[in-house]
Amino acid sequence: ETALDAAFFIRWMTAAAASIDREADRLTELDSPIGDADHGSNMQRGFAAVRKLLETAAPQTPGAVLTAAGRQLISTVGGASGPLYGTLLRRAGKVLGDAERVTPAELNAALAAGVDAVSQLGGAAPGDKTMLDALVPAVGAGAAFDAAAAAAAEGALATVPLQARKGRASYLGERSIGHQDPGATSSALLFAALAEAAK
Ligand code: ADP
Ligand code: MG
Ligand code: MG
Repeated sequence: ETALDAAFFIRWMTAAAASIDREADRLTELDSPIGDADHGSNMQRGFAAVRKLLETAAPQTPGAVLTAAGRQLISTVGGASGPLYGTLLRRAGKVLGDAERVTPAELNAALAAGVDAVSQLGGAAPGDKTMLDALVPAVGAGAAFDAAAAAAAEGALATVPLQARKGRASYLGERSIGHQDPGATSSALLFAALAEAAK
């Protein structure tokens, strides 16, 4: 198995920032009918700050990259998604510890722990029409990044017929049905960026 170093993790976060930037308008559009139309701008602001931080601070280990990125998301994203994504990355970073290089299997296990922490923090489970509908299948797909990205994209699409049970969209009750969840969509972008960084 190929070992992944800090440079790989910086490539991942940079690819994620670029993808969020490209898709920001779409994420905000998805957040219009079932939210407050800010998911794209929230994520764009957060990941621009992550990119800037990684350029200047250049953390030396995979765990330090994820921990720094998570902390930056928590401090720059006002919405629900900031603390949730921040928790995902910080927990994963903590699990990776101070190893110089990690295997894809170790990264998968660390992300799975991060996804558990998101579920703990937000009290949501798969089927509640949240980011977890993309994150849980993604980490469940294992250490192959292409498969994880495909599972996340599929999970995001599968939120359309669901009724939201957590977050702002849940206030709409049955009227949340028929719309794709913005957070599940941004989660799919993060896993697509991971697959891209691995190419
Ligand atoms: P806000 O709802 O505060 O405006 P965002 O628009 O940035 O924040 O993010 C909304 C997304 O956050 C939702 O689409 C959903 O995927 C995710 N989300 C909201 N609440 C929860 C929760 N309790 N658990 C998991 N994900 C959640
Ligand atoms: Mg919103
Ligand atoms: Mg908001």
